[in-house]
Amino acid sequence: MAGEPQADCLFCKIVAGEVPATVVRDTETVLAFRDINPQAPTHVLVIPKAHYPDAAALAVGAPGLAADVLREAGEIAAQEKTVEPGYRIVFNTGAGAGQTVFHAHAHVLGGRGLEWPPG
Ligand code: 5GP
Ligand code: ZN
Repeated sequence: MAGEPQADCLFCKIVAGEVPATVVRDTETVLAFRDINPQAPTHVLVIPKAHYPDAAALAVGAPGLAADVLREAGEIAAQEKTVEPGYRIVFNTGAGAGQTVFHAHAHVLGGRGLEWPPG
């Protein structure tokens, strides 16, 4: 069922506390933790605690939860003092776009210059 934990999902295991993570924010619905392979001084992953395979599926299945993820991404940017000069929220969607974990997650990247287009 949509939103239910998936046994083979790394991020569901992090939510369950079965895999350790450096947590930076933890709300009723959302968990945020540092990426294990950071691509910028700030690189935090923001995930809904419920399992949805990608951002679009999350928005369709649980729009309020999608909003929670975005709000927390903004809170993290503030916490990490990267609102100025700016930061980036990335949802890789599909293997061809670099998605490797099929549990919806926002990358919050900041603390360095961010080129556009991202490549
Ligand atoms: P994706 O490639 O799906 O957009 O993002 C998945 C992210 O999860 C990658 O940036 C990767 O470095 C990160 N990641 C993979 N395994 C782990 C882990 O065990 N712990 C943490 N904190 N991040 C992970
Ligand atoms: Zn999951």
